[in-house]
Amino acid sequence: MKIVQVTAEFAPIAKAGGLGEVLVGLSRELVRQGDEVEVILPKYDFLHFDKISQVTKNVYITEYQGCRLHLIDSPEHFHGGKIYGAEDLIGRFLYFSRAALEYLEERGEPIDILHLHDWHTAFCAPLMKDVFKKRVSVKGILLTIHNGEYQGQCSPADLDAIGVQGEHYLTPERLQDDDPKTPEMINLLKGGIVYSDAVNTVSPTYAQEILTPEMGFHLDATCRKYRSKLSGILNGIDQNLWNPKVDPALLAHYDGESSLETILKAKAKNKRVLHERFHLDLKKGPWIGGVTRIVSQKGPELLKETLKETVEKGGVFILLGSAPQEPKLRAEFYALKAEYAGHPQVLLHFEYDETLAHEIYAALDFLIVPSLFEPCGLTQLIAMHYGTVPIVRATGGLKDTVFDCEDPTVPASKRNGFTFPGATAASLRSALDRAFHLFHTDPVTFQILIRRGMQLDFSWKKPAQVYKKLYVKIQSIPTKNI
Ligand code: ADP
Repeated sequence: MKIVQVTAEFAPIAKAGGLGEVLVGLSRELVRQGDEVEVILPKYDFLHFDKISQVTKNVYITEYQGCRLHLIDSPEHFHGGKIYGAEDLIGRFLYFSRAALEYLEERGEPIDILHLHDWHTAFCAPLMKDVFKKRVSVKGILLTIHNGEYQGQCSPADLDAIGVQGEHYLTPERLQDDDPKTPEMINLLKGGIVYSDAVNTVSPTYAQEILTPEMGFHLDATCRKYRSKLSGILNGIDQNLWNPKVDPALLAHYDGESSLETILKAKAKNKRVLHERFHLDLKKGPWIGGVTRIVSQKGPELLKETLKETVEKGGVFILLGSAPQEPKLRAEFYALKAEYAGHPQVLLHFEYDETLAHEIYAALDFLIVPSLFEPCGLTQLIAMHYGTVPIVRATGGLKDTVFDCEDPTVPASKRNGFTFPGATAASLRSALDRAFHLFHTDPVTFQILIRRGMQLDFSWKKPAQVYKKLYVKIQSIPTKNI
């Protein structure tokens, strides 16, 4: 099959979070399984590429990990140093969506699947059906929702700016925003849901959750209307990016095949690295941490609560958080950083630091993920792969991948961490209490959890097979007029 991914992120060259990692992991595995994958990405000004050869005036092509990477160039739209930092983000991605399809038209090669990701490229679906149908040969369109909170609300005039009639789309059946407060707005993610042949989220539980008013962010009614084309496919983690056996960021290496002794020794050495660099107290334990964007989705209140509890209970708390943008969160987290500066039990590091992330996953005893909602979540998967036991709020993909070690309804062999149901301090605390208790009183069970997590298969092999089945299925779906 020939699959074209149109995406805002592609790791490691353009990554802000999970999206970029998912794109590279899935694409590489599809190639490994014999498919042809092409990736279309904006040529941001911060991409570090040595081997790009200019092919046409506006498109650069290069090979990356078996995938053909096409970089659409437009300094006016894609410069500015960040993926999501542009003043006119809507303009950036609407321009990109149209430019990607124009590029496919110019190339004139038929493709089997056009795979779109999140609101950034969702508008390719209506564009494809209404404008490019006869100009680009595509057999099926799939939209993957990696995060339904961000929907790309904009005005009809934004669509006019890329040469389509915005007013045409401002109807409830098409792209009119479902939020009753903003009926004058266009919703790009809705466009992807309505016009694609199939839609998937990145976990089965999240596919159910977006049907509810609590987690649908006003798109639940549209999701319910189109539920027959909705499914959930759990993400994998890219084994080339995340492999503790050969990870260049680590001092000591290990993996699921290593003996327990080797794993524990290696983790202790990796812990020592952070102790030496950040003066964290090695005698305190357990070490609990998070690697995350600091936004309301990720439960910032509960992260703060974890810090407090961990210090009180004699553990070490580490937070590697992408610097909070939202002013209130920013003020709170920087105040906390000042308060705990130099504290031997606390490290608060507000940067995007890929190498440090690897070192932290390998050093921690527990990873905390207290998200209010979580479409899939990669950090709990990476943590388990690195022998770190997850403590997560039971929502979305966290619920599909972490099973509480005391849950009698789950087979004992599947139990791999701690979960808590409510997004409340009390609910979190009960999980932390249990985790601390286990760590201090029952090392054997704690080590079983470490091993169990490391032996799980989080590779892209199975998820890619499920995507392939879906790709095959949607090629035979007849096109409907909307
Ligand atoms: P999301 O995509 O919502 O941010 P995910 O859990 O799906 O969350 O993916 C987050 C990815 O980004 C993980 O690979 C995680 O290690 C990485 N990450 C998040 N914050 C940082 C940071 N401050 N520094 C380095 N890596 C980070």
